[in-house]
Amino acid sequence: MKDSMILSDDISEVICATLRAAIFEGALKPGDKLKEDILAKHFGASRTVVRGALTMLAQQHLAERRRNHGSFVATPTPAEAKNLLASRRVLEMAVMDALPGRLNKKEFDVLARTIENETKVHSGSDATEKKRIAGDFHHILAEYAGNHVLLEMLENVITRLSLVNALYERANDCTCGTSHHALILDHLKAGDYDAARTAMAVHLEDMEGNIAFEGVDGEKDEFLAILERMTGKP
Ligand SMILES: [Zn+2]
Repeated sequence: MKDSMILSDDISEVICATLRAAIFEGALKPGDKLKEDILAKHFGASRTVVRGALTMLAQQHLAERRRNHGSFVATPTPAEAKNLLASRRVLEMAVMDALPGRLNKKEFDVLARTIENETKVHSGSDATEKKRIAGDFHHILAEYAGNHVLLEMLENVITRLSLVNALYERANDCTCGTSHHALILDHLKAGDYDAARTAMAVHLEDMEGNIAFEGVDGEKDEFLAILERMTGKP
């Protein structure tokens, strides 16, 4: 009895993790329907287990349930997107503050290899792979900060931000500033944590600059303008 319960939870988690990964790499887009019947068949799971997985995903704010219509990939509003960006800044700065004294040759080598891999992937044309590796550098730094709560929060915010990017990004080819990463690493290696912190702040600002909400509000205004013109009612 207990075993089968654990098993169900496991399958729910596998389904949730699969959908989460598909959202992160951009295969599933904001507003896409998460079809319960196909999920159940593919994973050989009951509807209950599938719903459990979708509930988990909704708790992570990556899916939303619409009454009588099923579950969909979440569509963050501009306000939510702004809050996510602000939260990411706080979390990334907390990571930078926790790094002094925690990095040695082994860690520097891993970070250098991560940047090398980013350079290689970004010179290629595999857009999915580019998205898949987008958070790697930040994820590894957060791991080195040695605070798992912080790491978990940052991972969740970065995954939710992949939905924000899909909706509001100006250039649809986020390189996540490989040159910025290299600069941050140089400062860390030199033991200049203040400069590394500043470089991270500049890097985040640069990424935020690539997100545009004006168009979204503008479109709404334009829509309202059309209604006003059609109805003659302000
Ligand atoms: Zn980055």
